[in-house]
Amino acid sequence: AGGLMKGKRGLVLGVANNRSIAWGIAKAAHDHGAELAFTYQGDALKKRVEPLAAELGALVVGHCDVTDAASIDAVFAEVEKQWGKLDFLVHAIGFSDKDELTGRYVDTTEGNFNKTMLISVYSLTAVTQRAEKLMTDGGSILTLTYYGAEKVMPNYNVMGVAKAALEASVQYLAVDLGPKNIRVNAISAGPIKTLAASGIGDFRYILKWNEYNAPLRRTVTTEEVGDSGVYFLSDLSRAVTGEVHHVDSGYHVVGMKAVDAPDI
Ligand code: NAD
Repeated sequence: AGGLMKGKRGLVLGVANNRSIAWGIAKAAHDHGAELAFTYQGDALKKRVEPLAAELGALVVGHCDVTDAASIDAVFAEVEKQWGKLDFLVHAIGFSDKDELTGRYVDTTEGNFNKTMLISVYSLTAVTQRAEKLMTDGGSILTLTYYGAEKVMPNYNVMGVAKAALEASVQYLAVDLGPKNIRVNAISAGPIKTLAASGIGDFRYILKWNEYNAPLRRTVTTEEVGDSGVYFLSDLSRAVTGEVHHVDSGYHVVGMKAVDAPDI
């Protein structure tokens, strides 16, 4: 563990349990010396997040549901009270009704389309608005996306449309905040078995397919996404903004499958 993140304080949104990508990033940032604050979504997750926060000596700054602007304000007010400023922000939040993460995209309902876009896309802008005010010495904002933004993946459906909009948001936010030395980037992670991923139809098959066809012939772990996250959150990437960086064992470069995934 080096000191790459020493003296940096960051808010991490999206820890649900120890399989969350946000947790992998938080652990890696902590290993490199960062101080952290976590939020939780509702009481059910509070009791999971609190012991994880304690493990890293992190603050828990309250309940945050991005569909409730008052809860976002409250969390940023608490960060301001505790720290006065913020150096980095991790946005690892996404949601879509699992009934629509299967079958055809064309059958998406207006209600779930709007909800998916609000939680998975607009929330990045909502939290960036609040973070901008606290990032008085510049800062780094990191979100999580997936290859389903670029190419059609089975069952990913409206989430793929949302991730495409999220990636475009990263570029627009990067331009708006660049003059304040606030950088905005995304990691496009390969598939990982998390709570959110369990809502996606045939997810096991997608994992197998990646394992058999990614150049590195394996999937990725939250620890590996975390290590790449440290690059974006630290000054190592100080000249990088508006970027979507794949941490997917190289899957995104493959134009033709190598082997069929076995039947499962
Ligand atoms: P996860 O279930 O551990 O995390 C998802 C988080 O989103 C949870 O902490 C949940 O509380 C939060 N969330 C959902 N709705 C919310 C709301 N209304 N307000 C506040 N928080 C809300 O799953 P994960 O896979 O770690 O997901 C994190 C991010 O990574 C998501 O954006 C996901 O799309 C992205 N991602 C995941 C994969 C994968 O295969 N798991 C791959 C690429 C990208």
